[in-house]
Amino acid sequence: MHSTMQDVPLTIGSLLLHGTTVHGDSEVVTATPDGLRSTSYAEVGREAARLASGLRSLGVTGDQRVATFQWNNTEHLVAYLAIPSMGAVLHTLNIRLFPEQLVYVANHAEDRVVIVDDSLVGLLAPHLPAMETVTHVLVAGPDAASADLDSLRASGKQVQLYADLLAAQPDEFDWPQVDERAAAAMCYTSGTTGNPKGVIYSHRSAWLHSQMICTGNVAGLDWHDRVLPIVPMFHANAWGLAYAALMSGASLCMPDRWLQAEPLVRFMRESRPTISGAVPTIWNDVLMYLDAHPDLSVDSIRRILCGGSAVPVSLQKALKERHGLEVRQAWGMTETSPVASAAGVPLGVSGEEEWRYRGGQGRLVCGVEARITADDGTVLPSDGEAVGELEVRGPWVTGAYYSSDDPEVTAKFHEGWLRTGDVGMVDPLGYITLTDRAKDVIKSGGEWISSVELENALMAHPDVVEAAVVGIPDEKWQERPLASVVLRPGSTVGAADLRDYLGAEFAKWQLPDAWCFIEQIPRTSVGKFDKKVLRREYADGRLE
Ligand code: ADP
Repeated sequence: MHSTMQDVPLTIGSLLLHGTTVHGDSEVVTATPDGLRSTSYAEVGREAARLASGLRSLGVTGDQRVATFQWNNTEHLVAYLAIPSMGAVLHTLNIRLFPEQLVYVANHAEDRVVIVDDSLVGLLAPHLPAMETVTHVLVAGPDAASADLDSLRASGKQVQLYADLLAAQPDEFDWPQVDERAAAAMCYTSGTTGNPKGVIYSHRSAWLHSQMICTGNVAGLDWHDRVLPIVPMFHANAWGLAYAALMSGASLCMPDRWLQAEPLVRFMRESRPTISGAVPTIWNDVLMYLDAHPDLSVDSIRRILCGGSAVPVSLQKALKERHGLEVRQAWGMTETSPVASAAGVPLGVSGEEEWRYRGGQGRLVCGVEARITADDGTVLPSDGEAVGELEVRGPWVTGAYYSSDDPEVTAKFHEGWLRTGDVGMVDPLGYITLTDRAKDVIKSGGEWISSVELENALMAHPDVVEAAVVGIPDEKWQERPLASVVLRPGSTVGAADLRDYLGAEFAKWQLPDAWCFIEQIPRTSVGKFDKKVLRREYADGRLE
């Protein structure tokens, strides 16, 4: 029996229509050197129409790819809405990729047009000649007119100001009917090994993911909220926060390029977000800054979403106890749109037990299923004890990578499930606890040592600002842990003290043998600890 319900496709176009009409009075504010610039969602809708007409006039048709090379700002939001709604595919370029990877992904996706922020022209220009399929570049932002357009034109591409193109276009666009299963946006994983891999989101997957983000289990959004995505819009779609804001009518606060703690805190105080999302390294920087400036509070924020790597309990506690900021850890990957689980505390649980829940990767969200498997692919029980590789499936989990038949890539899928490369446990109530990434687990004398557990314990030491632990080759044991530590300025703590400190929690064979004290842990293009660099620096003799 068929239902009697209308078959209305779930598309970005419907999000655009709803957000910019029903919530036309909500706003997007973007940070500038002189304060905030604000645009209503109604105006975002008109600008999206002008951008779609402008892109058509440049010859963009069908599912051609339009890339963005932008910070989180109003123009990027407009691109997020206009490009998929006109039937084209939004490709968010990670501005921090190594040049060869950046060129690789632009060519692999066959990007036709690139929209670039005025402040990023200098970063893009040298690589533009190698982006073979790009024909047009649009320069956006308040200072676009004074950007070095000649450096872009030297590539032979057509270069135009975004504002000039849009000025000539009407405020309305005849948005096409788009199949909800068609490609809406694409994102490449940061490619810790090999070339980045492309993931293509559908309209339907983005729509369903947005609804899930809006639920109380994750962000709990309504139109009184103000959402500050610090996580870049090129990192797994800013975790879905932009589309979820349009869906719920929440306003957006966009930090543009000012991502250091001092301007971020100023922006939070000016734009008054209620919810914000960023990786742990950003919140650690914000914590240090707030600690040093007790007169500054960011009391508009009611919830912080944090993920991308394990979120140390010590960081969560410090933010809560010293600054009243509640952290909600979430887990996910570019391949899972990204949110698949979010932490929360069962009713009646408090004290140290509460932190055990907050320290885990949280409970599965509705739509995503998880299981764990042994090395030989056998499915292990979800009893909260068996440890194995986490596999997931669901309507916003990718089932393949874009046009790749590389056997290493196809091996990421197992009986229709995505192999996440993360190791941990799932319990019968859907709580996930990850111990490590498979490639970061330290294999010592036939036993496994969790790098994440050592890091979390180290970062709980009052003199430790950041710590990352990697396995280094060892003739006898295969691998042994190397701890790289950033100490608070003026601290006199040494390796022996930290070993003693860890000794209270870990067996002796688990303790790091090698220690190095450095000024900052290297970070990846999305702000996570870069363990690949640490291993290489060790191999090259720079760390010992
Ligand atoms: P990359 O692989 O380039 O870092 P992603 O952002 O897609 O790109 O990273 C996904 C990975 O990040 C996950 O597989 C997991 O290892 C890690 N991760 C994300 N959230 C968490 C979390 N809350 N706790 C532990 N690890 C996390």
